[in-house]
Amino acid sequence: MIIDSDKTQIQIIPIVIVIGGGFGGLSAVRKLRANRVRVKIILIDKKNTFDFLPALPDVISRRISSQFVQADLFKICKHLKCEFFQDEVIEISPESKQVQTSKNNFLFDYLVIASGSETNFYGNSGIKNTCVRLDSALDAVNISEKIASEQYNSVMVVGGGYTGVEVSSQVCEYFRKKGLNKKVFFLIRGNEPFQFLSPDQRVYARNNLEKTGVIILLNTQINNIIGNHTELNDGRIIDNVLVIWTAGVTPSFFIHKLNAAKDEQGRIKVAQDMSFAPQCFAVGDAAAFDVNGKSLRMAVHFAESGGRIAAENIINAIKGKPFKNHLPKDLGFVLPMANGFGCGIIFGCALAGRIPVFCHYVLCVFKSYGVNKWGILKDLLIPSAKRKMYA
Ligand SMILES: Cc1cc2nc3c(=O)[nH]c(=O)nc-3n(C[C@H](O)[C@H](O)[C@H](O)COP(=O)(O)OP(=O)(O)OC[C@H]3O[C@@H](n4cnc5c(N)ncnc54)[C@H](O)[C@@H]3O)c2cc1C
Repeated sequence: MIIDSDKTQIQIIPIVIVIGGGFGGLSAVRKLRANRVRVKIILIDKKNTFDFLPALPDVISRRISSQFVQADLFKICKHLKCEFFQDEVIEISPESKQVQTSKNNFLFDYLVIASGSETNFYGNSGIKNTCVRLDSALDAVNISEKIASEQYNSVMVVGGGYTGVEVSSQVCEYFRKKGLNKKVFFLIRGNEPFQFLSPDQRVYARNNLEKTGVIILLNTQINNIIGNHTELNDGRIIDNVLVIWTAGVTPSFFIHKLNAAKDEQGRIKVAQDMSFAPQCFAVGDAAAFDVNGKSLRMAVHFAESGGRIAAENIINAIKGKPFKNHLPKDLGFVLPMANGFGCGIIFGCALAGRIPVFCHYVLCVFKSYGVNKWGILKDLLIPSAKRKMYA
């Protein structure tokens, strides 16, 4: 805490540290700032940008420009009257109320961990060094440049989750637009893909993904990558293939070191009020919030609502009021594919076709905070060919 004194009175100002300037972290800062309680807020992020992750697959196919999906965290923090440090958190101690970063040591009164998740390479450094990942806007630009390069004859997307489906369809779309005769393989370890969808939607998703041109390989894994050769578990060797790894996520390294209860994915188990230790909260992908014995899905709206509750409970703690529980509302999800078709559940209704994809992009435009939403809208409405014509 800091002591603010003028001639008439002394006021103790608590210090709130927020780790991560993504959806959960920024939503907590906005909520804290919307209240009149005086707190000093310090936001720490290893990047200096807020990246609008739901639009990254579209950056790969160059449908949306990367500049529109990033926002400057220094500017956002200036606007929200909070201090920003671009620094990587390497350890935290809830007991001594300290955050250790690569350059500094911070003391806090209240802590919000909102460090999200990152690609999980399951400790395989060979795969980590050879494959590309999609954790940030910079990664999307990197993939976009690589798929355009002549170095690779084909692309292999590993991992049968939401990101893998979106990415493989966008890469195919890019090849189609450019008239490139390159193949896109989608590797799925089991023989029943898209377990996160209902049986009807699984069939729809698979058929539509194949319509975009993606070749789905079931029961397939990468055995080894040596130089240009990628060897699959069925003995096939594919040369000059760009491997995009989307097979699972894990929390940031400092959370692995933290002595706290975690779920099977390594997310911090939080109570219903989002706390995991006295005066310490975790939100978003970094937190395992229990709903009927399962951790809440990783999604933007849960990260934002969790961030708001953590902030409200910090204010409640300062005012000596009881804590509020997080009552997450599941708005649903959408699995959009690059041909404009997709499926998902919106407000409890299972939908397939163009409508869920339309809803996804409406949310992308209107829920985006800090980024250039009019730029995103322009890119979505005016295809790149026309944009070049008008330029
Ligand atoms: C490609 C992609 C597409 C997605 N599409 C959708 C979608 O359509 N709809 C949806 O609801 N969800 C989607 N998601 C999931 C959604 O983006 C996440 O659930 C959400 O971003 C979680 O918010 P968060 O605040 O927990 O983490 P994030 O928004 O990821 O923010 C975490 C921040 O913490 C920082 N950080 C991490 N580690 C450290 C450290 N050690 N020190 C300092 N800073 C650190 C990161 O740099 C980052 O800025 C998508 C995710 C991806 C990757």
